[in-house]
Amino acid sequence: QVTDILAKEGPSSPSYDWFQTESLVTIVIYTKQKDINLDSVIVDHQDDSFRAETIIKDYSYLIHLGLSHEIQEDFSVRVVENVGKIEIVLKKKENTFWKSLGHSLENHNSFIPKKDAGLYYRRCRLISKEDVTHDTKLFCLMLPPSTHLQVPIGQHVYLKLTITGTEIVKPYTPVFDSLLSEFQEPVLCNSKYIYFLIKIYPAGLFTPELDHLQIGDYVSISSPEGNFKKSRIEELEDLFLLAAGTGFTPMVKILNYALANIPSLRKVKLDVLSIKQEDDIIWRSQAEKKMLLSSRFDIEFILSAPTSEWNGKRGYISPALLSEFLKRSSDKSKVLICICGPTPFTEQGIRLLHDLNFSKDEIHSFTA
Ligand code: FAD
Ligand code: NAD
Repeated sequence: QVTDILAKEGPSSPSYDWFQTESLVTIVIYTKQKDINLDSVIVDHQDDSFRAETIIKDYSYLIHLGLSHEIQEDFSVRVVENVGKIEIVLKKKENTFWKSLGHSLENHNSFIPKKDAGLYYRRCRLISKEDVTHDTKLFCLMLPPSTHLQVPIGQHVYLKLTITGTEIVKPYTPVFDSLLSEFQEPVLCNSKYIYFLIKIYPAGLFTPELDHLQIGDYVSISSPEGNFKKSRIEELEDLFLLAAGTGFTPMVKILNYALANIPSLRKVKLDVLSIKQEDDIIWRSQAEKKMLLSSRFDIEFILSAPTSEWNGKRGYISPALLSEFLKRSSDKSKVLICICGPTPFTEQGIRLLHDLNFSKDEIHSFTA
């Protein structure tokens, strides 16, 4: 009944069904929505629990079962976009006939606002850790074989570690393994690897622990969160990305996605307000190479405390700097400005953008 009430307020409630062949069991989720893709569903099979969480607008539909029989580790997920149907194909461990799919576990078949659904974590193995600057590293984590999870562009996840007996979680935004990675669907999207650019703060609570992990150790990763919608980029003509420090991370996928998928775009400009000095710049040579490869892409590094040898731009975010940076390709071009960095930077940036007459709809800020 709760589901019915919610369904009246939000999107209508999905439903599911299942069928089997001798070797396979297929669970079908009918979302009743058209804008469904492989990002929309997160599947985990851990111990005796099978979970499939489908995100529909701001709602979460959960299938949560103890399966009646054992299945193999790997499964496949397919989406039939035009009818909003999701198919999860499980491989039976033994070719026997299943009388039932399984028994219901907590919140099975519920359809509730996503914010009330809580975050689910799975343990991921640290595959590699590589220096990018003197204080920032590229971490590669591998999802378990029995998880299907893709982090939508512009969204983040929480990493969880137990530190002196207490569980600590902090948010991080997945990136590609390089700025030169092409945004290719679905090959890249089905990857089991998730990459993070993380700055290690020596006096911080979480990052020193993360840095001390050995290859093969485990970190838990939550399901994705965030309010950035890919639809904000559709049909754009100008995309401006303002990143300070590790605020660079959400820009990586947005920029690659936009260049690969938005033909209307005339220009993508990324302004990186890196801290202090040249050796703080993340992926500088990759960015310069990318500029040579794409005439629509431009990047500028602005340092707040450079050495005297730096002959590029310098300073903090300011009206002069922004009006120079935010040059539209035409007076009425459709524009989006994304901004991310330390809170005072982001807040000041938004104020300055409003002063420059950019509307709320033309700005997306990444905050906690
Ligand atoms: P903290 O313990 O939080 O400390 C950070 C710094 O502040 C340290 O230098 C510490 O000495 C200092 N400090 C702590 N407390 C105080 C105090 N009371 N007074 C003065 N100084 C203090 N970071 C990334 O590197 N990559 C990402 O992709 C990324 N994505 C994010 C996405 C989101 C949505 C958000 C909100 C944040 C993101 N962050 C990212 C930041 C990240 O979540 C952590 O805040 C960061 O890693 C610091 O964690 P920490 O526990 O190591 O440091
Ligand atoms: P940092 O301290 O090295 O600062 C980077 C740059 O920010 C500086 O060079 C300067 O240009 C600018 N800046 C710093 N303080 C400023 C101020 N008071 N006013 C104006 N400009 C200022 O940055 P960092 O250590 O790399 O931290 C990055 C921040 O970005 C963190 O706070 C992190 O939480 C945030 N972040 C948020 C997200 C998100 O999605 N919400 C993602 C990644 C990072």
